[in-house]
Amino acid sequence: MMPRPLTDAYGRVLRDLRVSLTDRCNFRCLYCLPETEAAVNFYRGHWAKLPAPAPIVHQWQPRANLLTFEEIERVVRLLAAWGVTKVRLTGGEPLLRRDVEQLVARLARTPGLRDLAMTTNGFLFAPNAAALRAAGLQRVSFSLDSLERENFKKITGRDGLDTVLAALEQAKQLGFQPVKVNAVVIRGINDHEIEALAGFARDRNVRLRFIEFMPLDSGRAWQREMVVSGREILDRLRARFALRPVLAENPSETARRWSFADGRGEIGLIAPVSEPFCGHCDRLRLTADGKIRTCLFSVGEHDLRSRLRNGATDDDLDEWLRAVVRGKEERHHIGEPGFVQPERTMSCIGG
Ligand code: SAM
Ligand code: SF4
Repeated sequence: MMPRPLTDAYGRVLRDLRVSLTDRCNFRCLYCLPETEAAVNFYRGHWAKLPAPAPIVHQWQPRANLLTFEEIERVVRLLAAWGVTKVRLTGGEPLLRRDVEQLVARLARTPGLRDLAMTTNGFLFAPNAAALRAAGLQRVSFSLDSLERENFKKITGRDGLDTVLAALEQAKQLGFQPVKVNAVVIRGINDHEIEALAGFARDRNVRLRFIEFMPLDSGRAWQREMVVSGREILDRLRARFALRPVLAENPSETARRWSFADGRGEIGLIAPVSEPFCGHCDRLRLTADGKIRTCLFSVGEHDLRSRLRNGATDDDLDEWLRAVVRGKEERHHIGEPGFVQPERTMSCIGG
């Protein structure tokens, strides 16, 4: 029997689930979860005139609040039966979750699931890589915002550039396909590295995605002036490299993709701020503490965990989840008067 798809009030069919495995992280990216006062206030000096709303104070979730592997497996199985085909494990840092390869092995067996991927900062990838691959993880995306050791340290709060670069090579050798790299670009912080990052994608034959900075940082430092738009990045890259557009594999793809003339590597531009793609968004998010979020910028969440733990049947969950999905926001309102930054940061929501 064909699955009855999960469809929202605007006719969008949801196919893509992001599962956050933990809200904790071993990095402290200044655009996500800055640790030091200097990182929280990174925009000062560049953007000193800007106001300083109070930072979000992050409280780690107690372990008992985190969904267990059994609970995550059940949710993924149900959603896959209703037409979700892609699952991405994320966080916080997903590799901080102990025995994560056991979860991967469970999920990889899910009927209907065609794509199982992970987004990681890569620091703990090496010791886990072979087990993750053997367990059935197909794709991995690394976050890499700088190729300069000091700048990498300033952005992530950790001296980890060499470790992440080694992880990337290891992923390629183990046959993860494709290996992607995400780079968040912030004006005055790493925008001088745009061409170098693109050159790196070609040299290493990886797919690099430039991502616009979004207002999901715990420092609440985001200002539009800091966003380097996808258009600006593309103009700069086209002045340096011969690029050819790559056709999207599916209409819900967030990146506009470009290949290099010599066919090695690829770059993509993810521009949720300057060119929102909400109209064909097919995503749903599950936080580590078992809340469903229908949008990155949702100001409300839907408590799945209590239902899972209070004996809800699959039919109960079916009915409940379809109602939740029907209420998916039409679009985000970044930059509009009255925009409210979500109470939880990207590290909690699961990017
Ligand atoms: N810790 C893992 C990592 O960094 O890859 C997975 C979680 S992280 C929240 C997922 C992605 O979100 C990363 O690629 C990160 O660069 C991106 N991200 C975090 N905060 C962001 C922000 N404020 N704007 C845009 N992207 C952000
Ligand atoms: Fe951690 Fe990823 Fe957020 Fe950086 S972007 S602080 S690595 S969750």
